[in-house]
Amino acid sequence: MTTSHAPAVDAHVHSDLYIDGRWTAGAGRRAVNDPATGEVIAEVATAGPDECRAAVASAHGAASTWAATAPRQRGEILRRAFELMTAEADRIARLITRENGKALADARSEVAYAAEFFRWFSEEAVRVRGDYRPAPAGDKQIIITHAPVGVSVLITPWNFPAAMATRKIAPALAAGCTTILKPASETPLTALAIADVLERAGVPAGVVNVILPEPTGPLVKEMLDDPRVRNLSFTGSTEVGRTLLHGAADTVVRTSMELGGNAPFLVLEGADVAAAVEGAMVAKMRNGGSACTAANRFYVHASLVEEFTVALTERMAAVTVGQGDEDGVELGALVSVKERDKVAALVDGALAEGARRTTSATVPAEGAFYPPTVLVDIEPTADLLAREIFGPVAPVVAVADEDTAVRLANDTEYGLISYVYGPAGDALRVAGRLEAGMVAVNRAVVSDPAASFGGMKQSGLGREGGFDGIHEFLESKYVAVEI
Ligand code: NAP
Repeated sequence: MTTSHAPAVDAHVHSDLYIDGRWTAGAGRRAVNDPATGEVIAEVATAGPDECRAAVASAHGAASTWAATAPRQRGEILRRAFELMTAEADRIARLITRENGKALADARSEVAYAAEFFRWFSEEAVRVRGDYRPAPAGDKQIIITHAPVGVSVLITPWNFPAAMATRKIAPALAAGCTTILKPASETPLTALAIADVLERAGVPAGVVNVILPEPTGPLVKEMLDDPRVRNLSFTGSTEVGRTLLHGAADTVVRTSMELGGNAPFLVLEGADVAAAVEGAMVAKMRNGGSACTAANRFYVHASLVEEFTVALTERMAAVTVGQGDEDGVELGALVSVKERDKVAALVDGALAEGARRTTSATVPAEGAFYPPTVLVDIEPTADLLAREIFGPVAPVVAVADEDTAVRLANDTEYGLISYVYGPAGDALRVAGRLEAGMVAVNRAVVSDPAASFGGMKQSGLGREGGFDGIHEFLESKYVAVEI
């Protein structure tokens, strides 16, 4: 454990709202904390009803001009945003570490990933294709085009404050939609820094607005009830996603939902254990375990479980924990003491039910730190395995055969991602049996702006990135032409 006192965020960090191309003081201020130290690093502006209405009016006012802007021009603005963000990656990564707590290495890879959404969708902006064909009955021509959905509210979580924002803003702008971004309360500064990048990239006033409604629920609902808002793209917990789906129903607002996960990590008979442990470390510890894609439950074939657990325990015990921007730190703080306590309660519950901890690291009580932890002797029905842990905790369960592993893996309301390590043919067969929107086979990371990201079951509706992502912001229009 290492600690130091890094300076508060630099004077160039924006802490006002961004509405209609202007930085605006808002209705009040709220503290943003560094979770590693508890220090207040900024007082950020909050939005009341007036600011929320102004953001909707601004996005609505800019909508028709932006929709009519040439796709090439929209693409070039996004390309400039990619270049600016890449050039300023270190500054943005340090800001993420300060407000989120994650290790700087994680923050740096997040910024690179986030910037790639600008590049990918700068290329997609000019590739929206329609359809033109004779009707089967021969009575008409069928023309299908794609039009921007319109004003889009984008709501993002704290765990990837840059990437979850660009994964929505980039396709929205490429499609010709205007946006209102509402970042998580814990991590607003990164979202405001992205608005600053977009402004300098040439995004016209009104096309991107960033607000922090307070109170969140009622003010977001008021925006959804405004008939000028036509689309909601949400990333966050399944619980809040359900509430928003209900809220969107009243005005039939279109929705995209990227929700929670409970990723199983399967190690099949005959797997390369060293490779599986290497993969487990990445799938579990990337972003400190605070990822919707984080491996949440390890189902390991009984013949390999001892070797796997010993090696995983060794690797987890060797992780350097500390303040995220310290040299060599691999695991930073969780986003808040509240989140740390949630993880601790889940582990304590499992221990009380008979689980055993094979790691022994401790971290100071001060700061939102939780030690890398491996748990064994867990009943397959344990509460811990049913919940999204969102922290550096790896529960390992021995399984007798492939059918048991698949049954346990699928026994969840979630279906975001699954991991399989094993001989190629077996792993591919199992991948086909898993109820998940994404499966990683003999590798630990799937995220790629060029691929469709999203979940089955209660992990979500719709897909982000890839060729699908832009279509979350477009709707089809059919024109029938008499011949
Ligand atoms: P969260 O509590 O659901 O919050 C997400 C966002 O929703 C925040 O901006 C939050 O704002 C807002 N929110 C909360 N209540 C709301 C309401 N009633 N109406 C409108 N907005 C509301 O999730 P989180 O704790 O930030 O993030 C962790 C969750 O996100 C995990 O479940 C994780 O799996 C999921 N996630 C999913 C993906 C994916 O791609 N599937 C990616 C990343 C994370 P406030 O901060 O103001 O409350």
